[in-house]
Amino acid sequence: MDGETTYIEASAKAVYQKCVELSRNLWWTWHPEVMNIYRDLDPIRWRQLDHNPVALLHEFTPERLAARAAEMVLHSRINYAHRRMKEYVNQTDTWASTHAGVLGANPVAYFSAEFGIHESLPIYSGGLGVLSGDHVKSASGLGVPLVGIGLFYAQGYFKQQLDSDGYQSEEYMNTKVENLAIEPALTPQGEPITVAVETRSGPVLAKVWQMNVGRVKLFLLDCNVEGNQPQDRELTSRLYGGNERTRVRQELVLGVGGVKALRALNITPGVYHLNEGHSAFGPLEVIRERMHDDGMTFDDALRETAQKTVFTTHTPVPAGHDRFDAAMVEEHLGPLRDELGISYEQLMGLGRVEPQNDQETFCMTVLGLKLSRRANAVSQLHGHISRRMWAHLWPWRVEEEIPIGHITNGVHIPSWLAWQMSQLYDRHFPNGWMQRMGESEVWRFIHKVDPGELWETHNTLKNLLLSFVRRRLSRQCRRRREHDDVVEAARNALDPSILTIGFGRRFATYKRAALLLTDEDRLSELLNDKQRPIQIIFAGKAHPKDEPGKQLIQRLANLRHDPRFAGKLVFVEDYEINVCRHLVQGVDVWLNNPRRPLEASGTSGQKVVLNGGLNMSILDGWWAEAYNGINGFAIGKGTSHVSDEVTDRRDAAYLFETLEERVIPTYYKRDADGLPHQWIQMMMNSISTLAWRFSAHRMVMDYARECYVPAAGGLSCEMH
Ligand SMILES: *Cc1c(COP(=O)(O)O)cnc(C)c1O
Repeated sequence: MDGETTYIEASAKAVYQKCVELSRNLWWTWHPEVMNIYRDLDPIRWRQLDHNPVALLHEFTPERLAARAAEMVLHSRINYAHRRMKEYVNQTDTWASTHAGVLGANPVAYFSAEFGIHESLPIYSGGLGVLSGDHVKSASGLGVPLVGIGLFYAQGYFKQQLDSDGYQSEEYMNTKVENLAIEPALTPQGEPITVAVETRSGPVLAKVWQMNVGRVKLFLLDCNVEGNQPQDRELTSRLYGGNERTRVRQELVLGVGGVKALRALNITPGVYHLNEGHSAFGPLEVIRERMHDDGMTFDDALRETAQKTVFTTHTPVPAGHDRFDAAMVEEHLGPLRDELGISYEQLMGLGRVEPQNDQETFCMTVLGLKLSRRANAVSQLHGHISRRMWAHLWPWRVEEEIPIGHITNGVHIPSWLAWQMSQLYDRHFPNGWMQRMGESEVWRFIHKVDPGELWETHNTLKNLLLSFVRRRLSRQCRRRREHDDVVEAARNALDPSILTIGFGRRFATYKRAALLLTDEDRLSELLNDKQRPIQIIFAGKAHPKDEPGKQLIQRLANLRHDPRFAGKLVFVEDYEINVCRHLVQGVDVWLNNPRRPLEASGTSGQKVVLNGGLNMSILDGWWAEAYNGINGFAIGKGTSHVSDEVTDRRDAAYLFETLEERVIPTYYKRDADGLPHQWIQMMMNSISTLAWRFSAHRMVMDYARECYVPAAGGLSCEMH
């Protein structure tokens, strides 16, 4: 009997160990079959724990897990998933092994202030973070040698709750490190790493964590270490928190600290990719290393470093570009400046369009542009806007010659594609299509799918979305201690037979969340139409300091007290990756109405495409190059007036017109078999023309070919 017990114990341990190993590589975040294993272990706790497998496994002993696995017949699924992960991590013949071999032992170091990998990892706030997360996942998939550098935020970004007045409150949660799949990063000698960045007012220390995302390692710097001044221990606790000084110190740690961390890890990058200006101090530390190690002059070291540096700018909104006072820069970069042997004026000049103009503040975007040989915007239109915006940096060039190209953003398909849709693609697409998802040929097969099958799959997902929203709405009402009848109404909100429009994004002014509300009566008529009604789901956070944004949310949320809108126009709290995933997988139409040309790219609409939803958007960002007349809906003609007021009024009119004359009639036009064939045709057009083009695989392949390989000294195929 003893032997048997030991055997059972041993096999329980082995199953448990495999589940733990699966949880410690974020590969699982884009493998629904692994998530389903965790969910089957304990569906309720899985949801309550924000789909966090590390936290979930802490609640199991090996024995209880083995028992549950036996009960749910999970063993072979666990073994299979574990084997696949191991194979994936060790695979060597990848796209990059043939197309980006030059990167070899000198990987790309990809710097970003946030990484949106999964809802259980609070190190992102929104679009920029999700883009970085998707970039890293596709780099892993393609086998591009790349390491990520970011910050570890113990509290992350805030959780949004609306009070009974509909007003946004912000709550920051402390994450428990032991519940995350991170571990201390180690030197080749096995020592944990702490880097120190000198400032005029003393050093700032940061320890380094490591996270594994498939084949990519992500290194996160964390200032909560002994030896730091008390206020510096909280430096990295929140995303975009604090004041200008917090911000400059965070960016110092990210850029300069990040380069120091790479050195301690014994990683010598062949390319530095600065994803947005936050990390633009980094190349200055690289220059210092070259001067120190190779005895180069500042100018030579700068030229060589810029050759290896790629800079991506992400916004045409002026306030989106970090600017710091000269004194702030000198306090933090002073010691590094001494080592670089450059003057105060020289350093300030690197962050100014006109180096001598001491009225100009130090701009991180300018610094990024000056320290990189290759720069890009994130859509074709944003490329034009960025060249115009920064033209005065190259006063002797005409606009077309400004060296800022563009690589349009894309999304990581396996992370955003609903399982039901991927099953449908599996049935109709060529074998191994997931390995070729950045190629157009694969997606043409959507036209071979039976329209009824596509429509049914979409409606399954729509139903899942609506039950998710109802669950959230009733939870919101109960928390606000609202009347039973209000809770009951929330439980019954929304109707699956009605055309459902989604709007989920930050409540930044330029995104104009309230454009539909400019004519409440006309909107109410659309919501309450007897034959062809619509319903709308809103979600989004306002920046804690954005008072108008918060008031807008309040106005939207409080429409639930107006019988014309109750149960038909709803607001779901706390827009983050999980809420976004539900929305993009289940809506019929995704509404995007920014003030052109301020949406640099936008990616949420790309997530909708994969799942069969249609975009209805202003011709801005990615949509300006994506829309072809038959793959979704354009609002307006891609023009904007010099006066915002005029633009807004005109766009509101276009918006209603598009809804009334195109979207609603097409959706409700049913053929003899009860299906909206014209609509389904548009879904197919959208999938076949857009899914591959706006995938992160295509995006990362573009970065590899146009930026990384040439920057690493490979065969040059210049983009400008
Ligand atoms: C995809 C995503 C975004 C980006 O959406 P936009 O289209 O750029 O507004 C923002 N937040 C979350 C949580 C996302 O998943």
